[in-house]
Amino acid sequence: MFDKVLIANRGEIALRILRACKELGIKTVAAYSKADRDLKHVLLADESVCIGPNSSLESYLNIPAIIAAMEITDSVAVHPGYGFLAENADFAEQVQKSGFTFIGPDADVIRLMGDKVSAIEAMKKAGVPTVPGSDGELPDDEAKCREIAERIGLPIIIKAAAGGGGRGMRVVHDIESLWSSIQVTKSEAGAAFGDDTVYMEKFLQNPRHVEVQVLSDGQGNAIHLYDRDCSLQRRHQKVLEEAPAPGIDMAIREEVYNACTKACIEIGYRGAGTFEFLYENGGFYFIEMNTRIQVEHPVTEMVTGVDLIREQIRVCAGEKLSIKQEDVKLQGHAFECRINAEDSKTFMPSPGLVDKFHAPGGLGVRVDSHLYGGYKVPPYYDSMIAKLITHGEDRATALKRMEIALDELVVSGIKTNTDLQKDLVRDEAFQEGCVNIHYLEKKLGLS
Ligand code: ADP
Repeated sequence: MFDKVLIANRGEIALRILRACKELGIKTVAAYSKADRDLKHVLLADESVCIGPNSSLESYLNIPAIIAAMEITDSVAVHPGYGFLAENADFAEQVQKSGFTFIGPDADVIRLMGDKVSAIEAMKKAGVPTVPGSDGELPDDEAKCREIAERIGLPIIIKAAAGGGGRGMRVVHDIESLWSSIQVTKSEAGAAFGDDTVYMEKFLQNPRHVEVQVLSDGQGNAIHLYDRDCSLQRRHQKVLEEAPAPGIDMAIREEVYNACTKACIEIGYRGAGTFEFLYENGGFYFIEMNTRIQVEHPVTEMVTGVDLIREQIRVCAGEKLSIKQEDVKLQGHAFECRINAEDSKTFMPSPGLVDKFHAPGGLGVRVDSHLYGGYKVPPYYDSMIAKLITHGEDRATALKRMEIALDELVVSGIKTNTDLQKDLVRDEAFQEGCVNIHYLEKKLGLS
């Protein structure tokens, strides 16, 4: 096992990683920006190093500073968390070249999955169902593109191979605007991602977002940990997640799970990963793979009892998976509400001093948060300040517990989106389950 791990992230996930390291007997180094010296995990880590000024470009995204911090602290591995450098293949490669371990898959695997065209190709090979599409990059030929669009059937969506964060996509409803839409998406992709490769997919009208969690040791063993439904989104940002995805036949899901684990073995995947799908009319359609731990991982931990970060660290240290597929049993249902420092109605960020913080508790309630009374939320980073997670023997129990937990939560001094979350857990359609990815924006009057 690693002797010392550097945590190259902040907020709740840095604290979550610190806790997992402590359980494994690993020493910890918190790498933090100037604005973050009062973060909870910085105060709790064995050592801490300031890696740069407030701006994330100069700190959490500063590869030389992070590698230098590993050198001066004698760290042997780095955990990137999510966001920042977690899916940056160049970072993974430089960490490896400097003689350290990146807690995640190999740089080549990150690259393969980071390019959506090559990711889809690899998934197809493994038998993972994908969205009907152009089967690769679009040709630079108007007539051929028209042919492809007509074969797929309108509406279609043009997507950048290097796209991410919900950017680099354009929906086309009529064939006359196809060619100009392709040109615009290409030039936007070139400017935003430095790669203007685009491809085409059938645009699914009312899908749900369902994703499959996997763990793989890169030594021929991979398991799935069932799925999550993250359909409640605003501007492609997830707001409230649950596990498992409600109302889907287990036989269909098992097929998809098996294809995902097969894909992990074929690409030599190591660590925790997520296969994201759109689900519509009984069919799963792969859209992308996230080669990291995700924000919403706790709902899976609650329904399987598996510590995903501990397993991720173990397999990246070269150990084999300690869990067999038959040992992963679904137990009940879980929800996660993302609590953000933002206005519940306008979504304007609301950084500042938290004068009071009271976390809810009780059976089946988990709070992953770096917050404490007297903590000042800096304005420089993502606005998520807490994840409220509830578990129950069935969906209704877990949801009721969330209702109560949200009512107990007190964060004062700054605005939070707690009122929106309270509204959502009492929403009749959501309570019934199976709402699609447009539901929240429609409810908010945004689309
Ligand atoms: P990103 O990497 O930017 O998150 P994704 O490929 O995961 O891009 O797509 C982001 C979101 O865009 C999806 O969650 C979905 O809402 C929408 N989307 C992507 N592809 C399709 C499609 N073929 N049909 C309908 N919606 C889509």
